[in-house]
Order: sequence, then C-alpha cells, then structure tokens
Amino acid sequence: MSAEIIDGKAFAAGLRETVASHVARLKADHGITPGLAVVLVGEDPASQVYVRSKEKLTVDVGMKSFAHRLPADVSEADLYALIDRLNDDPEVHGILCQFPVPRHLSERDIVARIDPDKDVDGLSVTNAGRLATGQEAMVSCTPLGCLMMLREARGDLTGLDAVVIGRSNLVGKPMAQLLLAENCTVTMTHSRTRDLAEVVRRADILVAAVGVPEMVKGDWIKPGATVIDVGMNRMPPAEPGGKDRLVGDVDFAAARQVAGAITPVPGGVGPMTIACLLANTVTACCRANGLPEPEGLTA
Ligand code: NAP
Repeated sequence: MSAEIIDGKAFAAGLRETVASHVARLKADHGITPGLAVVLVGEDPASQVYVRSKEKLTVDVGMKSFAHRLPADVSEADLYALIDRLNDDPEVHGILCQFPVPRHLSERDIVARIDPDKDVDGLSVTNAGRLATGQEAMVSCTPLGCLMMLREARGDLTGLDAVVIGRSNLVGKPMAQLLLAENCTVTMTHSRTRDLAEVVRRADILVAAVGVPEMVKGDWIKPGATVIDVGMNRMPPAEPGGKDRLVGDVDFAAARQVAGAITPVPGGVGPMTIACLLANTVTACCRANGLPEPEGLTA
C-alpha cells in the first residue's frame, strides 16, 4: 500500500483562489480592500525572500500590501511608533513583523504591541487565550493550514486519536487546541516524552513539528494514519556540487508505505502557511467591518 500524497501546493493554490474571490466580493459589495502590513527589520537575506514572497502573493489575490523596511539598528521606540500607526490605520487589517529581529528587540514585546485583532500570525497571548477558551481568535497560520488539510483528507475528525510532536507556541500548542476543538483525543508530546514511538503508534492523526530530520520512522506509523509533516530541515546536498535538500521530521519513504495519507516536504505544509496568512487577513478585515465570517478561511 502507498499513502495518498496530500498536495499542499495545489491545496494552497485553491485556498488563494478562495481568498481572491472573497477579496473581489468585499471590493464589489462593500468598497473595502483587505490590507496586510509587513514589517521587516534589518537585511537578513532569508527574511527578505520570505517578505517579498508574502508581498507578492498579497497583491496577487487583490489585497493591499504595505511594506515597511526598517534599519537593523532601529530603536524600539521607533518600531513601536510604526506598529501603533498601523494599529490605528483602518486600511490595514493584518500586521506581521518578520522574525527573527535583531537582538536588541524583543519578539514577545513586538507581538504584544500589535492589536490582537490585526495579529494575523496568531502569536499574541490574547489570541492563544482566545483559541484555548473557544473564542473567536486569529489562529497561527501553520497549524491552521494543517487543520484544513486534515479536514480535506479525513472529513470529520471527531473521536480520532491525534498525536502532536512538539509543543512550540507557534505550531504544537495551537495545533493541539485546534484538534481538541475538532473533538479529537489529543496527546501532546515533546523531547521528554517516554517511548515516543509507542505513543505515535496509537495516532490516527500525526502532526510532527519537531525540527529533527526524519526522526519519525515508518514503523512508528499506525496503518492508515494521516501524517502531517511540519518539519523543514535543510540538509547538505546528496552529492558534491548538488543543491541543499529540504527534508521533514518524518521518514517519508518509509512512512508512505504505512500511512493512509501524508504530506511531502517540500510541497506539503509550507505553501499552506502563506496562504493561511492571506486567509487570516481577509478574516480580520471582515471582523473589523462587522461582516459575516468568510466561508472556508477559518478554523
Ligand atoms: P521549536 O520551537 O524548536 O519546537 C520544537 C519542539 O520539538 C519542542 O517542543 C521540542 O520539545 C520538540 N522536540 C525536539 N526534539 C524532540 C525529540 N527528539 N522528540 C520529541 N520532541 C522533540 O520548533 P517549531 O517552531 O515548532 O518548528 C518545528 C519544525 O517545523 C521546524 O522544522 C520548523 O522549521 C518547522 N516549521 C515549518 C513551518 C512551515 O510553514 N512549514 C512553520 C513553522 C515551523 P521541548 O519543548 O521538550 O524542547
């Protein structure tokens, strides 16, 4: 048996189309254009690539993109003054500060400065609390994308045993909250979990968000399970002169022989993350304007 491959690239393209149709309707029916502000501090090359890609996709779906580049030595006061202006700007519905930031700045304090209703990365304490207590929240983009793919692959998730490996605020914890809200029986695991392989073998749904290349072996997977591999681990080229390779936290070749469905790396979770950022911006825009929740974009 070979697992169905969950094509995150195609799924993300479909989600961006849905976003674009909501944007077109907001413009036509209400004269509103959703806007996403991206703040980049410094000139980290990888961050510049991510930010450019976000800005391009924002414009591609018909939204407004507000780019703010600040020097690496920007003062905390100046950065916060910009965030305050964006918080107050009615044309800006989502605000994202690209991390990492230079060491003299605090990521936690930056996130806290952003209006929770515009925190489209879903990173603030307020949004974590809203999610945990079942209130309307902005949900962190990566776990939101994972949930959308799980729903597509499995339909109703009620009663399924779900195991999440990793307990980061960015991925593991919100993922577990989302699965709990779907009525899964959720087990969260981490670096201190005893006999992880045995715990994972019980999983109908496995989400691996660890950062250890190919840590999850094929014989850890329950036959027929749905496996979502969040890991993005850059590996040296397989042969001299070749390109770097991106591998996940799951041994894909072995796991696909056992699983029912599995996301590849690359081409699985990664493309969904930016698509969910766009989706969150439209959701934030609708909420800010008292309009009904857009269909197909939220958890
Ligand atoms: P993180 O903050 O470093 O958290 C990693 C988690 O994995 C921690 O909770 C850690 O446990 C756990 N862990 C580490 N070694 C383990 C082991 N041997 N056994 C079991 N658990 C272990 O990482 P993250 O931000 O959540 O990201 C995880 C991975 O997802 C990374 O590869 C990252 O690049 C990728 N990622 C991808 C996307 C995307 O868009 N595709 C987005 C975000 C992240 P402790 O808490 O006990 O230390």
